[in-house]
This record gives sequence, C-alpha cells and structure tokens, in this order.
Amino acid sequence: MTKADLFRMLLVAADMPGLLFDHSEVSRWPTGALDDLLRSHLVRPAQTGLTAPCPHCDDGHVESVTVVAPSDDTEKPRYFISCPESLKVEVTEEMCRGWSVDLDGLAVTLASALAVSTPKPVVPGRFWRLGRMQLRDTTREVVFAARLADDDAEALMRHVSTGGRAVVFVPHRVPDPGRWPGRAPAVIAMHDVAAMADDNIVLDPEAVLEAIDIADRNAESRGEIPEEKLTAKRIERGVRKVIENMVSDDALVRAYVTHGSYRKAAGQREAVREEPPQERGRDRRGGQEHRGVRVPRPDRR
Ligand SMILES: [Zn+2]
Repeated sequence: MTKADLFRMLLVAADMPGLLFDHSEVSRWPTGALDDLLRSHLVRPAQTGLTAPCPHCDDGHVESVTVVAPSDDTEKPRYFISCPESLKVEVTEEMCRGWSVDLDGLAVTLASALAVSTPKPVVPGRFWRLGRMQLRDTTREVVFAARLADDDAEALMRHVSTGGRAVVFVPHRVPDPGRWPGRAPAVIAMHDVAAMADDNIVLDPEAVLEAIDIADRNAESRGEIPEEKLTAKRIERGVRKVIENMVSDDALVRAYVTHGSYRKAAGQREAVREEPPQERGRDRRGGQEHRGVRVPRPDRR
C-alpha cells in the first residue's frame, strides 16, 4: 500500500460512522505513514474506549481492554484482553490505541487546496463552511460535509443554499440528488478529484470544474434553471412589463426623452438594469423615432 492509496482509504473511512484504525491495521501502513498523517492532521487518536486486537490469534479479533492499575508509583498500568483461545492476553499500551480520520484537518486541507477561507464548523464533525471559490467570472459558496449519505443527512443539507449554485465537497459518498431540499448543488467526492502527492493534497482543477459543469447541466435538464439565468429572465420580464404599461400613456415618451432608449427607460423605472455608456451614445445618435411619435432630441446642456 502506498501513501496515495492510504489517503484514498482515509477518504472512504471518513464517510463511515465511527470507523477507527486499530494497532493491527496501522501496523500494515507504510513505514512512517501514521506519523506523517498525524503531523498533517489527517488522522488523530480515536476518542473511544480502549480496544486492542489479539496478538495471538490470526484473525486479530478486537476486544475491549481491562486496565490493571499499578500497585505503586514505580510500576506502569498493565492492559489485558480476553481471548477464546488464550483466555486472558496481555497487550501493550501501544496496541490499545486507535486512530480515526481527522475531519477538521481534512476540511483545512481541502480549503487550502481550493485557496478558500479557513473552514468554519457549522455542525461539529459533519459540516463546515469554506467561504466562496472563484469559478470563471463568478464565485460559488463552498462547503465540506461528511457522511452526507447517512440517514440523518437532511439536517446537514438544510445548511446549503437551495439555489443549486453551491459546491459541496464530500470525502467519498455522494447522496441521492433527490434528498436535497431545493435544487441539488454540485456534490464533488474528494475521492474522485483529490490525490496525495509528496505529502501534499492536490486537487485536479479540471475534474472539479467538470463536476460543477455536469451538475449545472443536470439541473438544467431537470428543468431547473440556474439562479443567475433565472434572475436575468425575471429582469427581462420586468422590463417588458414596464414597457407594456408605459406604451398606453405618454410617460413612455417622457421617459424616452430622458433616458434615450425605451429599454433604459423601463430599466430605470425598475432600477434593475444599467446599460453600458456606449449604448447610451449610440441610442442618442441613432433613431429618435418610435411608433410614429417624433421625439425631440434630449437636451444635453
Ligand atoms: Zn485471541
């Protein structure tokens, strides 16, 4: 097993509740890997009661540990497990330790690979906000969540905005899109896009962009129009409605004189649209006639 394999295995483990690596497991990891992973905060000592694998049996059955306190200060405590073969087996203190994935550390690693802000835990151990990431000419809300395919995940999903524009990173398991309360956001498994190279975690930017694009396309094919296009449509509708209302009265003519275009006149009324300056210039130079109404040139003094 290489360290890259180990990292991928940690991502799988991160989405499994209560999974811990015991002494027998960790002893099969590449030399120095445990120390490296502890240093980079990708694993941490498990917060559970003491257990240890049996050193005598081939199946390495794991048992809870009985600690025998020392009789005086010069001695150390001793650790025992029960065994169906050997009945009572002494184990070392080292064998009793367990390790689990450090999800806070994983969130920090992801944030730094994405160059976004330090993770803010919203639901400890399950859900973190990572600020916004740059995506072409816009930005997207980014979150990290663990065990999002679990039965209780809806409570976590409610922390993601419902517009379908968020980018949700998970370690490995992607939840069913139908479980999201609003439009399903882009959900990206780190397992698919992240790799460990020379003790650094790197993301494949192409794979991240592709995952977001696929999610956007899927949302559109389900008839879910992305929020920014929806806003543009609403504005178009708003402008048209105002124009329709204005055509019936001479307010239109007055607005046209003031703003130099019907579109701008309507937009100004709604205060939703600002046309670039060259549009204004062209409109003023261009046709000043509409619907047979001769409109005087705007006063430029
Ligand atoms: Zn045994």
